[in-house]
Amino acid sequence: MCYVQEKKNITNESLIEDLRNLAVKFKLMEALCNLPTTTNFTISKDRFMFGASICIGIPKHKLTRKNIQQNNASAASARVDVIPSIKGSTHVEMPPGSICGHPWGNCSEATPWEALRGEDCSVELNSLTITLKDLEEKEICYKCNEVAKTMKSMGVAKVVPMHLFP
Ligand SMILES: [Zn+2]
Repeated sequence: MCYVQEKKNITNESLIEDLRNLAVKFKLMEALCNLPTTTNFTISKDRFMFGASICIGIPKHKLTRKNIQQNNASAASARVDVIPSIKGSTHVEMPPGSICGHPWGNCSEATPWEALRGEDCSVELNSLTITLKDLEEKEICYKCNEVAKTMKSMGVAKVVPMHLFP
């Protein structure tokens, strides 16, 4: 579902519209099964990518596959295993009262940030996340902030939040 695409003649406004359309399509599917709560797009200098969170909570609806929660938990765990910046952040303890109840690797930012990061140099990654619930902007969570710090210390990316209304 996620893929990197070259950014040729594509404006940030059209990407925001695409992000909202993606969220609306997920919402239409929500009646059928437990789906993501956020979608993200991330832009580097010449490429962009969309991502989606993994839903691990208690299902609100009858699922078509009995093991979807277990599958989703495995997917988040797999992201932690293969994405060095997430794996390198997992030692961080959440502050008291943190609302980051989701597991590491769950967020919609995880895959785009990893796919677009620099190899031997740091690149600027502009990132915007919206919720499926109301299509509103979502702040980068505590865990993703830690991942962004790790990416910066690894010298592979500087994450810069984007906003729906600059
Ligand atoms: Zn996050």
